[in-house]
Amino acid sequence: MTMRSTCAVGLALTAVACSDPAPDAPLSTVVAYEGATLITGDGGPPIGGGVLVVDQGVITDVGLAANVTIPEGATVVDLRGKTIMPALVDLHGHLGYQRGLGYDEANYTRENLIDHLNRYAYYGVGTIVSMGTDPGDLAFQIQAEQQAGTLGGARLHTAYRGFARPNAGPGAAALRASAYGVSTEEEARSRVAELAETPADFVKIWVDDRGGRVEKLTPDLYRPIIEEAHARGLQVIAHVFYLEDARELVEAGVDGFAHLVRDAEMDDELVAAIVANDVFVMPNLAISERGRHAEPPAWVDDPLLLESVSPEVAARIRASFESRTPEGAARATESYAAMQRSLKKLADAGARLVLGADTGVQDHIQGFMEHRELELIVDAGMSVGDVIVAATSAPAKVLGVDTGLLAPGKRADFLVLDANPMYDITNTRRISAVYLNGQKLDREAMRAAW
Ligand SMILES: [Zn+2]
Repeated sequence: MTMRSTCAVGLALTAVACSDPAPDAPLSTVVAYEGATLITGDGGPPIGGGVLVVDQGVITDVGLAANVTIPEGATVVDLRGKTIMPALVDLHGHLGYQRGLGYDEANYTRENLIDHLNRYAYYGVGTIVSMGTDPGDLAFQIQAEQQAGTLGGARLHTAYRGFARPNAGPGAAALRASAYGVSTEEEARSRVAELAETPADFVKIWVDDRGGRVEKLTPDLYRPIIEEAHARGLQVIAHVFYLEDARELVEAGVDGFAHLVRDAEMDDELVAAIVANDVFVMPNLAISERGRHAEPPAWVDDPLLLESVSPEVAARIRASFESRTPEGAARATESYAAMQRSLKKLADAGARLVLGADTGVQDHIQGFMEHRELELIVDAGMSVGDVIVAATSAPAKVLGVDTGLLAPGKRADFLVLDANPMYDITNTRRISAVYLNGQKLDREAMRAAW
């Protein structure tokens, strides 16, 4: 199912093809969204009673009503009482593997990838990066179609196949074969060269021994990977678990972390090194946070979650909490508290924090858990304004894409909310409408299909 209607393409063609429009044809392709509070995504104060002007998928003007001239003939949409913010940009997902209760590489098909992109879009995630688990070229084909305007959904970007020791990359068995397994420096360099020939946006590396169960990617392998990637203009993002590895990775020139460290609280020295080297960090809290609960938490019953999730999957999510012990939950609470303190230190030190929710791991629901992630980042002590930047313009900048900001020239990817998230971050879930490329999604039809 492709959600993009053909009318934007139709309008664009009409504008070129029709030299003599009928008298009752729209005078203009411009749409002005009027009266909403605008959260622009740059961290500035919200604009009350603002106007957002969009023409053929691109924002052309934004600001206070008094400062924006609505072009003659524009369609005006009254959004008084609503809040507009940029669509979310998530740098960390895993697409293609889950289908209902199944979680398997056999599910990695064009149809399933497109379904996942639509799930992200439904919840207001306008851009998603598949973080190193794409086993073939399919993601590139889809990306090309989206860029050509023939396919909708959240915009797909990809780290293609990530790097680890053989069969030692992603945690989930279903994802493992998608990674490059490297054992020598030569292998590592030639695989990066291979990846650099593709449209991949990043190089992903896994630096983790999974509690001693697998061989860890060591500095003698990841240093050449980073060097080779940088020589080819690619940023390297590391999955990391141990504090000592994070320290060595920063020193080796890593560009970003897909997780916080999870064996200890980050010390001041590491935080300072992250800031000094401008390393971006994805807090990636929501998966770790689950361990704290020996009873199903409230979000499991959120009607918004249940809009895209089958009763069978919802039951499995619920059961996952019921099988946890109070002792296990207490341990997880302790280690999660260390992650929260690390995040607060990073935020206070001015580190570059970006949304990376790791959705598409089994039962970590695409689109919905991004919103939960935002709530958890606020709980850890970041201001709502900073969290919105971390979920919109900051990751867009890392990725180098023209979205994540309500500003002239940016893609018109935005959410219309029924309540202002500046007052309560969970208001990002009160979605009235999602616009991608200036096109309003038919969320009702998507919901009905699920
Ligand atoms: Zn991941």
